[in-house]
Amino acid sequence: MCNTFMSESIIVTKFGGTSMANIPMMRKCAEIVALHPGKRIVIVSATSGTTNQLTSLCTPLPEGEKERLLEEIKNRHLGMAAELKNKDQVIPAIRNLLKELKEAVEQLESGSMADRDLILSFGERLSSTVFAEVLNELTSDVTWMDVREVMLTDDFFGSAEPQIIEIAKRAKKQLIPMVKRGRVVSQGFIGSTIDGKTTTLGRGGSDYSAALFAEAVGAAVLEIWTDVRGIYSTDPRIVKEARPIAEMTFNEAAELAIFGAKVLHPATLKSAIRKKTEVFVGSTSEPEKGGTRILEKTSENPVIRAISLRRKQTLLTIHSLDMLHRFGFLARIFEILAKHKISVDLVTTSEVNVSLTLDTGIQSDNQHRLTPKVLEELRSFSKVSVDRDLALIALVGNKLHTSSGISGLVFGALSDFNIRMICHGASSHNLCFLVDEDRVDEAVKILHRKFIAEDRKNER
Ligand code: ADP
Ligand code: ASP
Ligand code: MG
Repeated sequence: MCNTFMSESIIVTKFGGTSMANIPMMRKCAEIVALHPGKRIVIVSATSGTTNQLTSLCTPLPEGEKERLLEEIKNRHLGMAAELKNKDQVIPAIRNLLKELKEAVEQLESGSMADRDLILSFGERLSSTVFAEVLNELTSDVTWMDVREVMLTDDFFGSAEPQIIEIAKRAKKQLIPMVKRGRVVSQGFIGSTIDGKTTTLGRGGSDYSAALFAEAVGAAVLEIWTDVRGIYSTDPRIVKEARPIAEMTFNEAAELAIFGAKVLHPATLKSAIRKKTEVFVGSTSEPEKGGTRILEKTSENPVIRAISLRRKQTLLTIHSLDMLHRFGFLARIFEILAKHKISVDLVTTSEVNVSLTLDTGIQSDNQHRLTPKVLEELRSFSKVSVDRDLALIALVGNKLHTSSGISGLVFGALSDFNIRMICHGASSHNLCFLVDEDRVDEAVKILHRKFIAEDRKNER
């Protein structure tokens, strides 16, 4: 390996759960890393399915189910470790982690988010222990690092907030010296509070961890390796004609991630944008096929670059004649929602109505719900209606605000759909609206065909 070291030539690589699924997949990841001397920080997710099993271990389970889940996690990781050349050293390390996990499950205090985060952390701690050795077989300059030494967060267990300034300081002090000597393998998704309690950044948070590291060390590129060949024009599980996009801007990628494209954790781009770090998304199984580059500017700027969607959205409509020509009404609504820690997504208002959407599909146990108590407080001064089972569709591009007639075309294509709320103009990068959840796939297929597949056909 080339030992000349420059922080700005570092590439941070992140591998997701399916890339960590078994030793052959881990070997593909190791090959991707070993190919380039700049790939010195490697962030990994838990092996596929493990975080879900650990999550189940934190819930009440039927007799014998806990033991069965622990056994499956044990067999998966010991089985992987047994395939390694250096298995005599790796197996005891895995056994120690499994023992600690079993104790944590036995001591779990029901409802404690801190205990839950500790249990979830074993997924990444196990996978990274195995992967460090897989990589070591290829490059022999690998150090395993406990990410909790660097990834300082607040104590909002379940979706903790990284402390960016402190992370940068710690990265300089602890990580850079290791990176100067060779490659570092560490865990995504997990962090630590100032007093050493384990936290997590929220489901899918490993992308965000990698982005935070790229930011902290001033990396040249952040690579996200996953099970698809980049960011597609829409969710490839829904639309089979969806295709990977060669280039998109930071803003477009951020909007897509925020509005439901699972391929990137929504916060990933926040970090990349702050330092203008180029991001690449590609497939671990087919690295030679290329992927998506996310940059500040792109050469081509179609009006609609991609479409994302989020299911399980709730629409809250608040109506009051008192709102007419009065002040403080909106503040009152938001005060109540803030008091109950309800995060509001989209907002539209008219003279006497306010419509709000809440992302009720979010996979966080910290997300506060619309309880009867919240509704009662809102109803003390207004009429409130709640519509559930809706889905949010977001059309994403760079020129949506300047393209006249685009809304007419979009809603014309969906003329027989019940469109519930439209947000256009607040961001120049998206046009979003709600439809009934049971018809969202159909709507996305229509829009993809009309605005993306057709465009592609015309270009040929
Ligand atoms: P990882 O485990 O590697 O982090 P994820 O499962 O979190 O992978 O994200 C990749 C998945 O995101 C893909 O398999 C795909 O099903 C889904 N996905 C949803 N929308 C998109 C999109 N627009 N482009 C690519 N993948 C998408
Ligand atoms: N393992 C965690 C999860 O499944 C984090 C991640 O994969 O990004 O949510
Ligand atoms: Mg992911």
